[in-house]
Amino acid sequence: MQAIVKAQRAPGLTVSTVPKPVAGPGEVLIRVRHAGVCGTDLHIADWDAWAQGRIKPPLVVGHEFAGEVAALGPGVTEFQVGQLVTAEGHIICGHCQACRTGNGHICKNTRIIGVDRDGAFAEFIAMPATNVMTLDGIPTEIGAIMDPMGNAFHTVLTADIPGSAVFIVGCGPIGCFAVGIARAAGAAKVIASDVNPNRLALAKKMGAHVVINAAKDDVVRTVLAETGGEGVDVVCEMSGVPAALHQAFATIRMGGRVHLLGLPKGEVSVDFASEIIFKGITLYGVIGRKMYETWHQMRRFLSSGLLDPRPVITHRFPLAKIDDALAAIRSGDAGKVILEIA
Ligand code: ZN
Repeated sequence: MQAIVKAQRAPGLTVSTVPKPVAGPGEVLIRVRHAGVCGTDLHIADWDAWAQGRIKPPLVVGHEFAGEVAALGPGVTEFQVGQLVTAEGHIICGHCQACRTGNGHICKNTRIIGVDRDGAFAEFIAMPATNVMTLDGIPTEIGAIMDPMGNAFHTVLTADIPGSAVFIVGCGPIGCFAVGIARAAGAAKVIASDVNPNRLALAKKMGAHVVINAAKDDVVRTVLAETGGEGVDVVCEMSGVPAALHQAFATIRMGGRVHLLGLPKGEVSVDFASEIIFKGITLYGVIGRKMYETWHQMRRFLSSGLLDPRPVITHRFPLAKIDDALAAIRSGDAGKVILEIA
């Protein structure tokens, strides 16, 4: 089968012919129709310090996908060939303390498809049946982005949203999903910031009441003015930019919640006393998607039409054009970039 492979310990990705996987015991073989391209794939392509420490080539890359059940391994009875499905790409151990207390998203033994084992930029992928989710009428193009959208669902819905003022910091694809989710969940006011006008336009399309260009406008003053001087109830920090983290602490109301998804490149200095403790706020670190609470919530928002994420998908490429897909992400102007595989 055709696949995109990290072939060697050097920059670049190659389109190769590799053996088609088989569904082992407890596994489902899925014919991939659509796959999402992510910043992680860019790190692997560029062979940066993180990739050098984590990736063991040769490896089929890609971790966001949806497709059709092609075959069932021994012991799998809950799916049927032909069903449209997506899958959680974090494969967890099932026996650590986190797993056994319903917190599989923070399993310390997590292995990720397209990172620690073969991934989804391929015509077929074999997945543990425990990780597979039926799409229930959701098109595979949307199913393919339920992994990053799930990060946004996890970030937003872990806070109390109905009637709240929510500030989404950073309007990359996950930030734009978060805007739409906050609106769909009943936020009274959604404010979004970024430094890129194209991304702000996308946030507006997804339902942001107020957008702030952080390169030009005074972010803190604008958010406080929009909330009667009180600050917002919830901040979702999706950028990881140090200046934006300080804006998150300056705009959260006393006792509010700051949910952190964006990854800073290095250490960030924080004034714990004034930015966190004396404001009585709660910080929540977001990793992955809750298994499988986030997936069930997300599937209902999507299949009922409460949320339409399609405006965020801005680029589509065939599998062989992975370099063009990566270039679109590098430009900083793209929303979600997807591969059309079958
Ligand atoms: Zn575990």
